[in-house]
Amino acid sequence: MVEGPLQEGIVARAVARGLLDIRVHDLRDFTVDRHRVVDDAPFGGGPGMVLKPEPLFAAVEAIAAERCSGGLEACRHAVVLTSPDGERLTHAVAARLSALDHVVILCGRYEGVDERVREHLATDAISIGDYVVSGGELPALVIVDAVARLVPGVVGDDASVSGDTFARDGLLDFPQYTRPAAFRGWPVPDVLLSGHHAEIEKWRREQAMARTRRHRPDLLDTNKE
Ligand code: SAH
Repeated sequence: MVEGPLQEGIVARAVARGLLDIRVHDLRDFTVDRHRVVDDAPFGGGPGMVLKPEPLFAAVEAIAAERCSGGLEACRHAVVLTSPDGERLTHAVAARLSALDHVVILCGRYEGVDERVREHLATDAISIGDYVVSGGELPALVIVDAVARLVPGVVGDDASVSGDTFARDGLLDFPQYTRPAAFRGWPVPDVLLSGHHAEIEKWRREQAMARTRRHRPDLLDTNKE
């Protein structure tokens, strides 16, 4: 589920160029019983299954020993639990993670994960939005992609990251156009064809501001704080 997307696009190129190292681990490899069981029924009853703590702790401890000499504590790290009740993933959260040496992302399944993982193993719990998906794999891929883009060198043209929505002063991106200059009678704004760089820059700034005001006024409020 996660290996396919990691073999495509910007993330795959960054791995090939040695800018990032991404490993996928199977929780079942960290079980000790014959049936490689990772889940069990919830204490107190109720539907579904809960991921057991032992394989998750064993996995993180094994990965830490292998990847950071001196253990995870010796490198700047985070152990992120994907969870719909976690901190909302934002540009700021992605930027914080991108500055670390090592990030472990834990993917829940079923009804979720034994709470002791969150209390005693995870350093962060992150949600990709106010909806529930069936497992932590897609959220983990979203986190990996958003964080990878902010690692220097990963996106070819650094200006393209710093100009992105949210990165640019916390504003939405300005509208982009490409050829043809007129499509089905809808023209590209004249200023973009004018060649006046200062005018274009001013127009883009105004557009970004207007869009943010119209679609995401909350971003402007946050900036004022
Ligand atoms: N019963 C849980 C949902 C479990 S969904 C609840 O109501 O909170 C199973 C797993 O999918 C979760 O453990 C988590 O790893 C992942 N997941 C689901 N929605 C998510 C979201 N919005 N953000 C991050 N992870 C999510």
